[in-house]
Amino acid sequence: MWEAPEYLGNLLAEQYGSALAEEICGGFLCRRPVTLRVNTLKCSVPEAEGALKSAGIDFSHSGICPEALIINSAREDSLRSLSLYSEGKIYLQSLSSMLPPLLLNPSPNDSVLDMAAAPGGKTTQMAAMTGGAAAITACEKNKVRAERLRYNLQRQGCGRVSVMVCDVRRLDSRFSFDKILLDAPCSGSGTVSEEHCEFTAELYDRSCRLQAELLKKALSLLMPGKRAVYSTCSILRGENEEILKSVLPSAGGRIIPIPEGAFPEVPRLPTEMSGTLCVKPSRLFEGFFVAHIEKI
Ligand code: SAM
Repeated sequence: MWEAPEYLGNLLAEQYGSALAEEICGGFLCRRPVTLRVNTLKCSVPEAEGALKSAGIDFSHSGICPEALIINSAREDSLRSLSLYSEGKIYLQSLSSMLPPLLLNPSPNDSVLDMAAAPGGKTTQMAAMTGGAAAITACEKNKVRAERLRYNLQRQGCGRVSVMVCDVRRLDSRFSFDKILLDAPCSGSGTVSEEHCEFTAELYDRSCRLQAELLKKALSLLMPGKRAVYSTCSILRGENEEILKSVLPSAGGRIIPIPEGAFPEVPRLPTEMSGTLCVKPSRLFEGFFVAHIEKI
């Protein structure tokens, strides 16, 4: 029987207690179905549904947003072979990772900063949510990943997105934005599986340090009254609640509570900071964390 690496297992047991930690490890083992988002910049939901039906692919709807589909009868390779995919009409994306843009809810008139953007799942989602009208700046430090981001933006028809290949911590402080997404680099502790686990103590410590710096920067680029979303695919407090607690008071941020009843199908883990949402790894959802923040 597969077990999470010892250091991660211990952190989970310390944080959640051994019974819940065991349930979480059960969630890591689930083989999740492929999920996708219909790219409404290029295709309507009924059009995508029709194409999937014609290809004999069975799907169901996720309640998190009308564009989110759960594929019941095909794996990624079959979807990648569809013209729907090559034409950028769908984007393969986990349900958990659709949550941050849904919370940030950008409007067509907003100037938006996506601080850690590649490969672009959330940038393209925000572009689609605003009908392609919002001016989005997508920052990515890694050159190779930035190329992937550009490719995805082009294929998904996201015209008003400017890519900046830079360390977002160096962004000129004269910039300011209406909305900021910080989908921070993290240890990936919510998404480990039997086949894929990069979690190490070193990665965890490095991620925590970087996340605090990035969140400080995010708040410095927001005007009072404007909003940001902080997210990670980690379920460890050290990368989530503890980062928020250490940064928000001095950087002038406060949590906008995510209502308990929001996203009712999302399985939740207890969090140490009320109003934040930590997704429990399960059959449909990867482990994930999101917080909605306002600059005071
Ligand atoms: N938001 C992306 C999406 O939905 O497709 C996933 C982002 S991934 C969690 C984090 C990204 O941040 C990586 O591509 C990493 O190269 C980038 N990154 C790490 N440090 C950065 C920095 N200081 N400035 C800008 N990007 C950074």
